[in-house]
Amino acid sequence: MAVDATQPYDDQNVFAKILRGEIPCRRVYEDEWSLAFHDINPQSPTHILVIPKGAYVSWDDFSAKASDAEITGFVRAVGHVAREAGLVAPGYRLLANTGTNSHQEVPHLHVHVFAGRQLGPLLA
Ligand code: IMP
Repeated sequence: MAVDATQPYDDQNVFAKILRGEIPCRRVYEDEWSLAFHDINPQSPTHILVIPKGAYVSWDDFSAKASDAEITGFVRAVGHVAREAGLVAPGYRLLANTGTNSHQEVPHLHVHVFAGRQLGPLLA
């Protein structure tokens, strides 16, 4: 079901469970602020999700409430993950679905990193 980006944070969401170690993930990177892991249903040869460790429903929530240190740490983590995966030269796409019309399904902010093939037009 699509997420209402204004809803309160639900600590039973799947990414909260991954952060608590209650369900497994294929981890790519982790630091103080962020965790990156492979998407369980990849839409491109490389499909990584990067999430902040803080409890933020969406990009809106995060950009409004996170500290400068969290925001900086998260943005740097996304860039680091892409560089370490060798994605910069061939190119990659970042996507952060936010709210009902975007088709956000998991109510914990995540940035998709798509790469590994020629990606199509932006919107489908
Ligand atoms: P959204 O539509 O932007 O919210 O994307 C949610 C993404 O989370 C989808 O691409 C799912 O395949 C992915 N996903 C859901 N559950 C898991 C999981 O347990 N591990 C890894 N990825 C997941």
